[in-house]
Amino acid sequence: MTNSEPKIGRENFLSETLSRESIFDISEKRLSEWFVQANGKAFWARQTLRWLFEKRVLDTKQYTDIPPIFREKLSQEFSFELPKIDSLLASSDGSEKILLKSIDEKYFECVLMPSPDRVTICVSSQVGCRMACTFCQTGRLGLSRNLTKGEILAQLLWCYKQLEKRGDDRRITNVVFMGMGEPLDNLDNVIEATRVMLAPHYFGMSKHRVTVSTCGLVPEIRRMAKEFPLRLAISLHSADPTRRTQLMPVNRQHSLEELKKALLDYPAGRDGITFEYIMLDGVNDTVEYAKKLVKFLHGLKAKVNLIPMNAHPGMEWKPSQEKNMREFQKYLSDRSIPAPIRYSRGYDISGACGQLAAKRENELHLPPKRIAKTPPKATRPATQQPTQQETPGQQSTDTTFCGGAWKVWAEFLKRYGRDSAIKMADGQTIHTNQVMRHVESWDHQWVLTPAGEVLERQPNGTDVSLFAIAKK
Ligand code: SF4
Repeated sequence: MTNSEPKIGRENFLSETLSRESIFDISEKRLSEWFVQANGKAFWARQTLRWLFEKRVLDTKQYTDIPPIFREKLSQEFSFELPKIDSLLASSDGSEKILLKSIDEKYFECVLMPSPDRVTICVSSQVGCRMACTFCQTGRLGLSRNLTKGEILAQLLWCYKQLEKRGDDRRITNVVFMGMGEPLDNLDNVIEATRVMLAPHYFGMSKHRVTVSTCGLVPEIRRMAKEFPLRLAISLHSADPTRRTQLMPVNRQHSLEELKKALLDYPAGRDGITFEYIMLDGVNDTVEYAKKLVKFLHGLKAKVNLIPMNAHPGMEWKPSQEKNMREFQKYLSDRSIPAPIRYSRGYDISGACGQLAAKRENELHLPPKRIAKTPPKATRPATQQPTQQETPGQQSTDTTFCGGAWKVWAEFLKRYGRDSAIKMADGQTIHTNQVMRHVESWDHQWVLTPAGEVLERQPNGTDVSLFAIAKK
């Protein structure tokens, strides 16, 4: 195998886990070089990848247009293993959620949503996500790692398999990158996977039917505009800067103003740009917020999807009331902005992004016990003030606060005072000055939620509940 081209979509963890490179990650160019080096023909590369992505055949013995000796070599040199299905959940609305387990035992999900006139699938781009949007279950998981190009494509292959099982021989017509993860945070692999989706000799999809949804990473939006403009959906959720920052910490890095400029420059074409707007009761659903939204959208060809919130455990927001949603919608429609109310498909199967994977992670990794058997090895007392550098700054009490354990503890004390009752994860109620004795390690990253719960971030990206304020 030549090293002339950098490995695309291949992460170090997988290099360690796999002895052979995944065939789903390799580019046609590199596979051609491999065939040539092995005294074969360069065009066998495309033929091989057509078996995978057009005919969806994984058994090299069936590759009749490749000489038998090379079929054998292919299966020896590369791994043809796909992520496994961990579980499948069918919704009463006909959609199906597939939870996949990668070779290194990470969970990610995709959703198959057939309807009479199209077959849409919603795919993940990362395991978890580091954007920490407060309404999102994936955001609570933190980022574990990027999905490779092959793992993104594997989601299409599994959805095809599920369609076949249903006796549905239609093609997948639409792909939306709205599953777990921020696609623009893994843009190289998303672009490489999408190239395979669009290639007429592989999945053969239309460019107008692949949508990438982002929370608003401005430099990457500009990069896409230049290199690979696809349909864009923006998770906006508020056009008020303060409120958006509360809901989506990314708004601190990329302001609404900066985002608007990038969108005005984006070659959205006839499709325009879709804005996703989760309706949260009393948070972003009043006419006052609709007015701000209309102002923000001025000059853009826009459609707004109003999404009733899909509640899940640990979520501090409540879904909007029907009446408020209708008023909000009317305000936009009266100003010629299409604003359909879109209920998430698969509502009964944890349809919103990350819910199933988060549940699975919780079942697997969230031990109830967080009480130390021995006193912690902390080197400074809990009552010590954090240093100037560690002070968490001007945080609002209704934002999620992340950082080192000491920083988060300081913020907790700032919010709730030093004389408070605290409920530990095992149900025991203690006093703030007893916390030291109950926490195993102060070396970890912690998260303080707006509801007053403190979570410990695990190396695998999951959060474990440590304690919460007993009474707000
Ligand atoms: S909404 Fe999207 S960007 Fe935000 S945390 Fe969830 S997956 Fe990440």
